[in-house]
Amino acid sequence: MKRTRHDLVVVGAGSGGYAAARTARDLKADVALVDHGPLGGLCILRGCMPSKTLIASSDAAHDMREARELGIHARDIKIDFGHIMRRKNRLIKGFADYRIEGIEQFPLYSGQARFLSPHELQVGDHHVLVADKFIIATGSVVAPASAVHGLQDAGYIDSDAALELTELPRSVIVLGGGYIGCELGQFFARMGVKTSIVLRSNHLLSGEDDDIGDALTAYYREEGINVHTRTQITRVERRNGKKVVHVIHDGVDGELEAHELLYCLGRIPNIAGLNLDAAEVKCHAITGIETDETMRTCNPDFFAIGDVAGKHMLVHVAIYEGEIAARNAVTGGSEKADYSLQKTHTVFSDPQVAVAGATEKELVRSGTAYVKGTYDFAEHGKAECLNKTKGFVKILAEPEDGTILGAAVIGPDGSDMIHEMIVAMYYKATVSQFVKIPHLHPTMAEIWTYPAEECCAKLQMALPGEIEPEVMTGGTAG
Ligand SMILES: Cc1cc2nc3c(=O)[nH]c(=O)nc-3n(C[C@H](O)[C@H](O)[C@H](O)COP(=O)(O)OP(=O)(O)OC[C@H]3O[C@@H](n4cnc5c(N)ncnc54)[C@H](O)[C@@H]3O)c2cc1C
Repeated sequence: MKRTRHDLVVVGAGSGGYAAARTARDLKADVALVDHGPLGGLCILRGCMPSKTLIASSDAAHDMREARELGIHARDIKIDFGHIMRRKNRLIKGFADYRIEGIEQFPLYSGQARFLSPHELQVGDHHVLVADKFIIATGSVVAPASAVHGLQDAGYIDSDAALELTELPRSVIVLGGGYIGCELGQFFARMGVKTSIVLRSNHLLSGEDDDIGDALTAYYREEGINVHTRTQITRVERRNGKKVVHVIHDGVDGELEAHELLYCLGRIPNIAGLNLDAAEVKCHAITGIETDETMRTCNPDFFAIGDVAGKHMLVHVAIYEGEIAARNAVTGGSEKADYSLQKTHTVFSDPQVAVAGATEKELVRSGTAYVKGTYDFAEHGKAECLNKTKGFVKILAEPEDGTILGAAVIGPDGSDMIHEMIVAMYYKATVSQFVKIPHLHPTMAEIWTYPAEECCAKLQMALPGEIEPEVMTGGTAG
């Protein structure tokens, strides 16, 4: 076997691994990348970019149907699914080619990676890389479907397969109400597929605050998507050419049937075949490779980043962690990751959901007091002009000095709207500073000034000698 030495080897050339390699190269390190391919990473090939490209088409179909309110009557909307998929494939090829050009500027070893010892990595059948330091960035895979009895036999698609369909199913049941289930479920519904979503929680996006999850669930139902909350799947079977999901809801047995099942019950870290024991790196099958805040694993010469480290499975987090790990690996430093703002996330449902900083759930859980301001898009002039009135924004502020602790939006262009709040929180703005920032009129962004003003009003009541503030404390806020 051929042996080659590098200072640093990054295993996995997705968003996180590529960012790590670039950072290490900028620090003049001798860094190599390993990947078994296909090159491009999850985000480009089977994640963010293909899903958002498809959603652009389903949102366009929806907007055309809704244009009636604006006096525009579109008749006979025709969905050309072949064209939609060809467009997606063309764009994804362009994104992937560009990324591969970047990846190929590094020494690149193609093949399955398998550790032989804490300093040796076998790549494929013919190569062993020897290095002082390793960064593991092997991403995640769809969680095994074996947890759902009968699913394997009945047949199903997961998000990977959903993004590669050649024709639309006539009906689909989405198993799981997380962000991937919400995004792809609404895509199918807007493509004209009869769509149901089955979930155990009280509302879609169970991790989000109840007001956001409840609102999204209601909007999905209004749109004709059958959202089955508090519903447990007991087993799945194939019957008369259809797929039948057996469920229990409120203690009562029931059945749902459709032509296709979309399995969206999560992703797990991708560690198959890595032989992490030989590297003396600890890993949990569900939560991923354990790291400290410097991204070091229990073996200090090994770092883990991105989905395989399992903290927040998001592209910008993979990149952030990759850059920190690379700097620490090359310099021997101890720069720490801070997720308080990095965990900001968004869901490309319609209306879109985006959350920055702390949620109410987190503040309540930690017993942190806060004041809250909210404002509905239905009350906002510009939203009415655009006929985009679903949803609301909210700001959570510290009750002593008004520092913004968290912000959330469910509404039009929420994924872009949240950035103003990210900037404000990055600079640790208070609500009273925020309201002094000029906002153009009439814009959607100016909606943020109303919850900020509401928080200010509540805070001014806190001034000495004035009436008691309306402060939520952990346990009373809902
Ligand atoms: C449908 C869907 C939609 C999504 N939408 C969003 C979104 O809108 N926004 C967002 O932030 N995130 C989104 N994500 C999540 C996001 O795509 C991931 O968090 C991110 O891409 C993970 O990057 P990574 O570098 O950790 O892993 P990856 O990009 O998966 O890279 C891992 C690399 O390692 C290689 N590899 C794996 N094992 C081995 C091995 N043993 N040997 C050699 N090479 C190996 C793989 O070939 C791959 O290139 C979405 C995910 C899905 C599934």
